[in-house]
Amino acid sequence: MTQEGKLVVITGPSGVGKGTIVKALLSKYSQIFVSISATTRVPRQGEVDKKDYYFLSRDEFEQMINDHQLLEWAEYAGNYYGTPRQPVLEQINQGKIIILEIEVLGARLIKDSFPLATSIFILPPSLDILEQRLRGRATDAEEVIIKRLAKAREELAVSDEFDYQVINDNLESSIELVESIIFPAVS
Ligand code: 5GP
Repeated sequence: MTQEGKLVVITGPSGVGKGTIVKALLSKYSQIFVSISATTRVPRQGEVDKKDYYFLSRDEFEQMINDHQLLEWAEYAGNYYGTPRQPVLEQINQGKIIILEIEVLGARLIKDSFPLATSIFILPPSLDILEQRLRGRATDAEEVIIKRLAKAREELAVSDEFDYQVINDNLESSIELVESIIFPAVS
């Protein structure tokens, strides 16, 4: 039996734990893949080009937009982020489950163009906890954290546009919940 491909969008504010949840799913399920995004943000310490992101100049990114090579893209806290089109379409055609871990504007675009995609919004238990997490990971400058928190307020206000909402209070339970959404039990 050939397995049907599936597009899963995981969205929610920066620092909420989307990346950690996705990493856990990738290590557990060989049929799950994550799309590697393009960005104009500078790499953080330890990030690897073509593995964590395709790190591009603004000119290179704009060229991809003009060439229609992106499935969706958005500007977020002063940088471009986007999903390369071809690998995602190929993986869906191959029957794989592909996860896009993206911010809210891009997630909305994907919902519009792929109505069958499953969309999951990850929420923090509170804004205070989100702020602590963003500061705790110590990867961003203060002005970047402030921009990301302002964005988070806007993003949280639209969480109910998406198919599922998961409050990331306890990481293990959040992972389980996301698993149950991606692999619904057949009754
Ligand atoms: P970060 O700079 O922390 O890696 O990512 C900032 C935000 O951009 C996060 O919310 C992340 O999910 C989102 N993001 C990463 N890749 C993409 C993408 O390809 N498209 C969109 N729209 N957002 C993305």
